[in-house]
Amino acid sequence: MANFLSNSPDLHEVHSAGPLAVARASLSGDDRLDRIGTGRRKGMAIRAGAVMTQLVQPRLVNPPEGDPGVYVDFRFGRRAVLFDLGDLAPLTPRELLRVSHVFVSHAHMDHVAGFEPLLRLRLNRPRPLSVIGPAGFVRQTECRLGAFSWNLLDGASVDFRLTVAEFDGKRLSVAAEFRARDAFRRRDVPPVDLGEGIVLAEDDLAVEAVALDHGIPSLAFALQESLRVNVWRTGLEALGLPVGPWLDAAKTAIRAGAPDAHPIAITGHGEMPLGDLRDRVFHVEPGQRVVYVTDAADTAPNRAAIARLARGADHIFIEAAFAEADRDRARATAHLTARAAGEIARAAGARRVTGFHHSARYAGSGAVIPAELARAWDPRGAHVDPNGPSTSDGEPNWIRRWRRAGLSPEAALARFDSLPSVAFDELTGSWVGTGMPTGHPLDGLLERLGWQGKQFESAERVHPLIFRHNVALDPALLPLTVALRWPRLARSGPVRAGFHLVRRALRARGPAASLARVEFRGHLGAAMIYHRQPIVDHFRRIDAVCLLGLMQVPSMPPYFFLLTAGGSGSEFRRGIAGIAIRTPAADPNAGFATSEPCPGFTGRPVPSVTGPPGAPQFG
Ligand SMILES: [Zn+2]
Repeated sequence: MANFLSNSPDLHEVHSAGPLAVARASLSGDDRLDRIGTGRRKGMAIRAGAVMTQLVQPRLVNPPEGDPGVYVDFRFGRRAVLFDLGDLAPLTPRELLRVSHVFVSHAHMDHVAGFEPLLRLRLNRPRPLSVIGPAGFVRQTECRLGAFSWNLLDGASVDFRLTVAEFDGKRLSVAAEFRARDAFRRRDVPPVDLGEGIVLAEDDLAVEAVALDHGIPSLAFALQESLRVNVWRTGLEALGLPVGPWLDAAKTAIRAGAPDAHPIAITGHGEMPLGDLRDRVFHVEPGQRVVYVTDAADTAPNRAAIARLARGADHIFIEAAFAEADRDRARATAHLTARAAGEIARAAGARRVTGFHHSARYAGSGAVIPAELARAWDPRGAHVDPNGPSTSDGEPNWIRRWRRAGLSPEAALARFDSLPSVAFDELTGSWVGTGMPTGHPLDGLLERLGWQGKQFESAERVHPLIFRHNVALDPALLPLTVALRWPRLARSGPVRAGFHLVRRALRARGPAASLARVEFRGHLGAAMIYHRQPIVDHFRRIDAVCLLGLMQVPSMPPYFFLLTAGGSGSEFRRGIAGIAIRTPAADPNAGFATSEPCPGFTGRPVPSVTGPPGAPQFG
């Protein structure tokens, strides 16, 4: 990767304007540090925090119910690496051209089906590609390459080289090179000896691997950035030192742990001891650790191996294939349940966790998998509510009872008052919404019309009404006031059908609401203000994944609803007070693609539009 100076413009990302800034300004210094995820080094946290999140940017290739895979982009160096080679369609050619290394867990189809599309794109370009997989992978690749006719390739072709290596559970053991000029004939080469458990070692990063039991070996990987050494330009100027190659030599010495007395030769300035430079010119911080775990049986050896690999990870991507209730199915197919994934991430002390590889059977189950994962990962956050036991998936019993049997408006309000208020940051992301019955005219109505939930991009950009087919509706155009005054009419078949027909015309042109700090019933907290309607939503925290909402409309009783995190994938990071906070989705409407009702949805079930439940996902 390229070297870089540390005065990155991204440092300013933490200071956004508007109401959010007001909320941040009202926090104490330490709170603010925690919010941007820099618990480790508070002294320089704002700087470190902003940089930490920027240099290595890992993300799921597909939605969590799609093929497994993580794309790790490097901010500097025009380079990326891939974990697994399933469906790569969401990646642009430009992104795929940046990939230097692919780390494949195992050769079940959902993990390797993207090999040919990637090869096809790279074939006529000189940039080499390395693929590392489990035992037998070189032979498997040779067979795949042998399935094509390469008569158009010869010695005059572009010199594209594909290198394939196998990790046998201990080290790289077999390697082969396939060159375009050679019509992709296999040529065995000696595997690089990087030592036990290492599959890639460079100055700036290393990748470690372990072999897990999935019936066959399935590799898990950890990408470890080297110690980050940035140059402090102001410090350089203060000492009157020039920029030059000596900076690289000093960085290398720092990374290698050289002593303070180690001399550094500076062009035109003689020598200076490293110790004098370290604190004044350089800014040193630990590199990021990103871990990728998929397709592993829930066994004690697997758990121990993953926990070792993921120890102290900044971000773990871990499969959460089945709900705990389907543990038998998970065992039969050697996959992890969401609860197991959460427990493992917790045991490893991971600071951020993303669940993926959700079985298609949960397409209609709202946030069941993300909720189970979050509760296992952060049980402390999951039990903010002190009221008694929870069900097997961790949902508080009182919610389930309320959902099933309803609650009087007074009891609902008392419940609302007993819960803590919510800060702006806690709302960021996608939420699945469900009405909570209290005999209100709106009970069940929004769901019947196809309401899916809410999306908070930022304090200024809130989409309060995300409907099926990814449509964010403009509440001002919605017959919401009609519905409130004539609920029976709104519920009627013809109106519903008419609503579905005109829904696209009601599409919101932009965010329809924003957040403000509002005092409500004795609590100061985030409230959502509709831009063009006299409606305010207030929120209270139930647990790590659920909020209770109260919609306030003039001269109407309050309307209660539940928001469950996990509209888009199941990614959580540590937040204030250890509560798991949903991280924002890249696509404002992502996660609402499966048009299925939320859990506890009181209307009629709606068939999925994204494919039949139970579509094959797992090899
Ligand atoms: Zn598999």
